[in-house]
Amino acid sequence: MHGMMMDTQLMISSLLTFADRNFPEQEIVSVTAENPRHRYTYRECFKRTRQLANALDGLGAKFGDRIGTLAWNDYRHLELYYGVSGSGMVCHTINPKLTPAQIIFVINHAEDRLIFVDPLVLPLLEAIQEHLTTVEQFVILADKANMPETTLSNVLCYEELIGEYSDEFEWPEFDENTASGLCYTSGTTGNPKGVMYSHRSTILHAYASSLPSVSGLLPTDSVLPVVPMFHVNAWGMPFGVLMCGAKMVFPGPKMGDSETLQALMEEESVSLTSGVPTIWMGLLDYLDQTGKNIDSVQKVSVGGAACPMSLIKRFRDDHNVLVKQGWGMTETSPLGTVFGLRAGMEDYNDEQVAEVQAKQGHGIFGIEMKITDEENKEQPWDGEAVGRLKVRGPWVAKGYYKQEESQSPLDESGWLDTGDVAMIDAQGYMQITDRTKDVIKSGGEWISSIDIENAAVGHTAVAEAGVIGRYHPRWTERPLLVVVKQAGAELDKAGMLEFLVDKLDKMSMPNDVVFVDELPHTATGKISKLDLRKQFEDYEFTA
Ligand code: ADP
Repeated sequence: MHGMMMDTQLMISSLLTFADRNFPEQEIVSVTAENPRHRYTYRECFKRTRQLANALDGLGAKFGDRIGTLAWNDYRHLELYYGVSGSGMVCHTINPKLTPAQIIFVINHAEDRLIFVDPLVLPLLEAIQEHLTTVEQFVILADKANMPETTLSNVLCYEELIGEYSDEFEWPEFDENTASGLCYTSGTTGNPKGVMYSHRSTILHAYASSLPSVSGLLPTDSVLPVVPMFHVNAWGMPFGVLMCGAKMVFPGPKMGDSETLQALMEEESVSLTSGVPTIWMGLLDYLDQTGKNIDSVQKVSVGGAACPMSLIKRFRDDHNVLVKQGWGMTETSPLGTVFGLRAGMEDYNDEQVAEVQAKQGHGIFGIEMKITDEENKEQPWDGEAVGRLKVRGPWVAKGYYKQEESQSPLDESGWLDTGDVAMIDAQGYMQITDRTKDVIKSGGEWISSIDIENAAVGHTAVAEAGVIGRYHPRWTERPLLVVVKQAGAELDKAGMLEFLVDKLDKMSMPNDVVFVDELPHTATGKISKLDLRKQFEDYEFTA
């Protein structure tokens, strides 16, 4: 027997209609190249989003077409998110930090018909335009006064374009499984792989991210996503925030600029902000140097890479900010696990809480997780067994766009193999110890490169640290620690090892420490272990 409830479809456009009705006066503030503080309301945003929907129609874009964006976090990019997906087209957010060859690949692979581009990213497109086989029109995200000179052909001005159209638009209704967004993972090996989100997955993910144990946002909150909108939809925040009616603050091209971030936090009373650890290290150093504060900030969501303990403590001790670490990936929309305390932990002291914060977090309803051994046998949640982390759920990818089944990321039982290695404790907290391909196999044991990196960056003289396994005649592999020092800081190998000795078990102590000027990074700002391994291809341990 079926239940007798309506099956209205889960649509992104319904989020827009809801937020328009309920929070029309809520503010959206953006930094752009033209304007250091553009501000308008949800109502104005949705009005322009409907104009954009009419403009897309006028340009001949059809249901299911892929529409590319090369843009920073700001209000025009937000309008594209809403207008493109709401119309039944696919918003393909392109990461401008990919290599030119990768950008050509993703645009042609997605078969983008239109590309909306920020003036600051224009040179990148100009350089590759002759290789783009499907793009019919470029739209520059600027007003008429700020239209740049360009060698691109078929160029329109965003403000002029949408200005020509009515703000009345009926959002179409269609199947909730329709594709809504496309994001390519940076692909540390081979070509980038396209993860295709749907309306259903996006809305369910937005519900989950709004849970009190996750973001717990209220209409009185002010949210600053520092994670780029081309990186897993800024972790889904533009959708979750609409559901909760909170204020949105966008740093535009100033994402890595601590001065702008601090000013935005203070002026716009930001209560929650999110980003990768590197951004926060930079901000904390800036606050130390200037003596400035971030008094309104209550929580910082940290993910994308392991969050060092030093970051958790500096935020806590110097700024009274709670770090909420989360784990996820492009394939999981990205929410997988998140920090939160369990009943029974109310009396934990600061140090005990920090121990929990340093783990990747607990499960969220909607995502099932497990760890398995090489034979796909599930391992216990005992805080000791280590295995491949696998997940499944309605906002987890079941395949990549236009990829053959043989390249499926799913294991034989239909779970997504995340490529991460993890353990899960008896209370359900998951801890990433490595990526499958980065794990160091020493004398038959697995050593966590992440543990060593986290311990190393706890040293005040260390700006960044990367650990790779290198061949060792006795142990097969041993860890090599590669360090970038803070500008002007003094540190040598002996000093580094001495610092680590009481923080790591004996097996994990690196056999050597090498100092470099910089580490290679991927397009999402993580240390590229692949390139680091290449760089140290000929390295040999002497002990
Ligand atoms: P990329 O493949 O470019 O790194 P993703 O952004 O999808 O793209 O990265 C997902 C990966 O990032 C995860 O599989 C995991 O290895 C790592 N990661 C994400 N969050 C965390 C975290 N909190 N701690 C450790 N690693 C993390």
